Amino acid sequence: MRLPHDPAARAALRRPSAADPLRVLVSGCILGQPCGVDGTDYGMGGSLGDLLALPTVRAVPFCPEHHGLGTPRTMPDIHGGDGHDVLDGKARVLDQHGADLTEGMLIGARAMLAFAREQRVECAILTDMSAACGSQVISDGGRFVAERRYRAGVGVAAALLSRHGVPVVSQRDFRTLQWLRGRLDPTHVPDPAARDHHESAWYVDYFRT
Ligand code: SF4
Repeated sequence: MRLPHDPAARAALRRPSAADPLRVLVSGCILGQPCGVDGTDYGMGGSLGDLLALPTVRAVPFCPEHHGLGTPRTMPDIHGGDGHDVLDGKARVLDQHGADLTEGMLIGARAMLAFAREQRVECAILTDMSAACGSQVISDGGRFVAERRYRAGVGVAAALLSRHGVPVVSQRDFRTLQWLRGRLDPTHVPDPAARDHHESAWYVDYFRT
């Protein structure tokens, strides 16, 4: 269930209030946790600050890779499919040295789902391009190569959340985030020029070929 692709999931999201805010699961790095592979937040902390600071939101952070693999860590990327394929045992997660990180990624994804249930989250805003949190695009194989390849698909944690009814949107889905902001703040006027990641010039051009 991905909010940019699923009008029914958008329609099902309630209009929250300050007394009863929308419970939103957020990738830890987006909320500034130093949980990236290199022990930083990838410079993303505060990137959605305006949205997540609204009184109608209660943002709860979680990093599935930190939970399953620790920080710092080597770089996990999915080989042979996307997160759904990993869940189905058809693809593996390897690091840049060829070490198999699949089990740690599954542990992290399951922990994120358990946390989402415990917090009764209603949707998730996750970091795209990650082998765990990606929801539009992931690396197709390892990223530390001369010519990095991409795959339209989801990471392991995003796949598990979405399979269990948590609607997911990425931080690059600007059109859907504008819509979500309107849901959270009725005075907000969405930017008509905003586009989701799958509508961006890069995405359309890359996946056309
Ligand atoms: S696994 Fe998700 S939360 Fe953790 S650093 Fe990567 S993108 Fe951020």
